[in-house]
Amino acid sequence: MSSGDPLLQARALVLLDLAAQGLADPHTVSRVEECVTERRWWLSQWPQGWEYVDGLVAQDVQDRLFDEARRWPVCTGCPDPTEHSMTIQPELGPDPRWVCSQTGYVIAHLGALPKVRASGT
Ligand SMILES: [Zn+2]
Repeated sequence: MSSGDPLLQARALVLLDLAAQGLADPHTVSRVEECVTERRWWLSQWPQGWEYVDGLVAQDVQDRLFDEARRWPVCTGCPDPTEHSMTIQPELGPDPRWVCSQTGYVIAHLGALPKVRASGT
């Protein structure tokens, strides 16, 4: 896992989870590219941070989409009809997981979100 470019792995995991929620369109992919570029600079300043970039890129992309009023990822673990999101835990650590923001339950590892049917198609 530690071989190769950690940011390429982070990018791949985030794209998998965007695709699982039907959001891997050219617009969001370019947002991911921006976040990866910023984290590449960050990593050049703090090489020990390579273990954390998966979760950090995911949070960066989440923030960026939230600013555009796009909620990602929407929780898939609750029967609750009220749409709510998941957050990355730990925020700064290895092995990041998506956790329901309401119950605190672990839903999936980053890159392993279950596929949901795209709405509005
Ligand atoms: Zn939930």
